[in-house]
Amino acid sequence: MKILVINSGSSSIKYQLLDMAAESILVTGLVERIGEASGVLTARTFPGTGVEKRFQLETMIPDHSTGMQLLIKQISDQQDGVIRDAAEIEAVGHRVVHGGESFHQPALISEEVIQAISANVPLAPLHNPANLDGIRVARQLFAGVPQVAVFDTAFHQSMPPSAFLYALPYELYEQERIRRYGFHGTSHKFVAGECARVLGRPLAACNLITIHLGNGCSMTAVENGRSVETSLGMTPLEGLIMGTRCGDIDPALHAILHRSRGLDIEEIDALLNRESGLKGVCGMNDMRDIHAARQQGNKLAQLAFDMFVHRLRKYIGAYFVVLGRVDGLVFTAGIGENDHMLREAALSGLENLGIVLDREANAGKPGEWLRISAPQSRVEVLVVRTNEELEIARQTVEVLGQASVATQLEAGRQI
Ligand code: ADP
Repeated sequence: MKILVINSGSSSIKYQLLDMAAESILVTGLVERIGEASGVLTARTFPGTGVEKRFQLETMIPDHSTGMQLLIKQISDQQDGVIRDAAEIEAVGHRVVHGGESFHQPALISEEVIQAISANVPLAPLHNPANLDGIRVARQLFAGVPQVAVFDTAFHQSMPPSAFLYALPYELYEQERIRRYGFHGTSHKFVAGECARVLGRPLAACNLITIHLGNGCSMTAVENGRSVETSLGMTPLEGLIMGTRCGDIDPALHAILHRSRGLDIEEIDALLNRESGLKGVCGMNDMRDIHAARQQGNKLAQLAFDMFVHRLRKYIGAYFVVLGRVDGLVFTAGIGENDHMLREAALSGLENLGIVLDREANAGKPGEWLRISAPQSRVEVLVVRTNEELEIARQTVEVLGQASVATQLEAGRQI
């Protein structure tokens, strides 16, 4: 079964074609600079010969429809493509950032689902419209092919109100839906599943802390396979320190910045989202640059690293208590997968919590996953390479399975 995964942004479309029989990637590509003077499509194909092929095309891509047509042509190109005909694609899975409270699960896309995603645009004004563009275009170009929406927020819909509510007047939740939603759900779900597989237990029997550290950073407490607490909030600004985002601050700082600097609300929003975090403290937001700088004695780079680690440890402590019992702790995404110094700093001295790092294993190179805890560690610590596209494709297949069972049941009832 071949599934096309689409991640449609405002000026780009990331895509991946997967063969779900072996869960192998056939093509991974990116259409960029949609709507600009010159666009570009870059792709890597894995045609099964073991030889990776690269493909690049520079041309004007005025809109998402043109971009999608180009990527379909690239995938099914007679010479360089990996399939003979776009009709071989059995389903399309779409990443959708915000499902609000409407979606606890992925959904088979229908007009009602599109309306519900549109209704959640105020919660993700930059992302949901771009995701919808991708859905609309794909529905035109793949008429009759089932399409599934997979939401970044859905995994966290299992959080209880005590965890997802802000201590604000309750009517703000009832009327404005102001609450914590959490993000990176597809990644947290994927690595939690992989961790359970490595531990040899059903996910539903695992208590895990999953730590996603990329440009955006978040942590999730997973109880019996379900998210019960996560660090990102109503927007992806809360919680851990990130590349350019501040994470937790005193909310009174908005008023203070307004009074002392005369900043208006848009300027404060931009400051906290784009000029803060690691970048705000030391001018750099890539952890590799920060390591290089601190090794050369840059004090602000050292401070940014120390602050990042401190916040992470504070959250690990909090999530231990939320869960009571922790079976596994998982690091993932750009920093989590690659940065052994960060992982060592985050977990040092936690033997009393049952976490004992194997420093040698921690310095090793992860493949799909790597165990970095010592044999005597009560908590298994893993590095797991996240794979959101594969998770979207898996959930797409699952939804199709459920839909076909539902159709059969319905047909049975009619007989
Ligand atoms: P995104 O959140 O955009 O998907 P990634 O998960 O790819 O991003 O993470 C990107 C970040 O990962 C970079 O900004 C960089 O800080 C960090 N990173 C990547 N490789 C390394 C490495 N070898 N060591 C430390 N940090 C790394």
